[in-house]
Amino acid sequence: MGDDKLQKHYLSFESYLRKSRKEFEARLKDELKPNANYEDFNVTKTLGTGSFGRVVMCKYKDGDKLYAMKVMEKVNIMRTKQLAHTISEIRFLDAIRFPFIVHMEYFFKNNVYVFMVMAFIGGGEMFYHLRNNKKFDENLCKFYAAQVILAFEFIHFMGIVYRDLKPENIMIDLEGYLKVTDLGFCKKIDSQRTYTLCGTPEYLAPEIILSQGYNFSVDWWSLGILIYEMAAGFPPFFAKDHMKLYEKIVSGKFACPPHFSKSLKDLMSNILQIDRTKRFGVLKAGSKDVKGHEWFKGTDFDQILNRKVKPTYIPAVDNQGDTKFFEQYGETFLRQSSLNEYEEEFRDMTLR
Ligand code: AMP
Repeated sequence: MGDDKLQKHYLSFESYLRKSRKEFEARLKDELKPNANYEDFNVTKTLGTGSFGRVVMCKYKDGDKLYAMKVMEKVNIMRTKQLAHTISEIRFLDAIRFPFIVHMEYFFKNNVYVFMVMAFIGGGEMFYHLRNNKKFDENLCKFYAAQVILAFEFIHFMGIVYRDLKPENIMIDLEGYLKVTDLGFCKKIDSQRTYTLCGTPEYLAPEIILSQGYNFSVDWWSLGILIYEMAAGFPPFFAKDHMKLYEKIVSGKFACPPHFSKSLKDLMSNILQIDRTKRFGVLKAGSKDVKGHEWFKGTDFDQILNRKVKPTYIPAVDNQGDTKFFEQYGETFLRQSSLNEYEEEFRDMTLR
């Protein structure tokens, strides 16, 4: 992107962010009302599972549109002390509206579960494609990184730190564009610092490991890890033992594969910088240090934001409902109860 074009993009994106922030704050203040029932959906199969519960594929009433429904058991949320995290995930999934971040269209509860319904993203996780293709070429890495940067700029402007970037949490849609999913660790910090140890070991920033108190800097670090992993096929810091891994991360020493271009190596050394007073993304110029870096020369952030760039990689499916990019899971029935479990705890869905 030429300098003039980039300056123009900064101006228009910033005014878009300012407008979005007002709308986001208004949605966050609104009471979150359930807008569907479980019986409104025809569930077909499981797409993913985790400690949180499961994500199933479904259709709404007689419509054709496919959805992914995240089903979380209230008793499980309480047992794992995830009530606050779950409420913030639901509120952010509802309030955040950005092309590269997943969005919740329906929300409801029953006696046993809470349900979040999002559009189905047919390409599955970036993780699958990265492992399958070993690594991505640098052009594809730039295209993906640009979308994550725009998503981070958006989310940070809303005062939220994301904290869980990794290829498993990035979905690829059938047009080849990304959606960041899983807002479970998102936290509204505005200008404050936070201390919670959370995230995924290989993607943890040194300041999280060292319990130093952190803010948006951790997301920029994780962007560096993601770009490295996409381009190399493996992360920059790796060890089977977590303690050894953390030692490597806080040492800040890593090597780039010889095939990395000179500008990519330079970008890596500036983002994977343990000294936060030198890390790109959190200096005075903010994200402009990253977007304006030599490696992104030729990347048109506006065109990508408007989905005008034709992706060089498109997940090929047989039909819209094809789940070949998802693992196969055994199906289970949902539990029923005549008692409204944890009714009080889940009554008020406001952020605390
Ligand atoms: P999450 O807890 O949001 O990370 O979801 C767990 C898994 O469910 C993901 O890693 C995906 O495999 C799948 N999943 C989540 N959201 C969607 C979606 N909108 N479309 C398709 N699959 C999804």
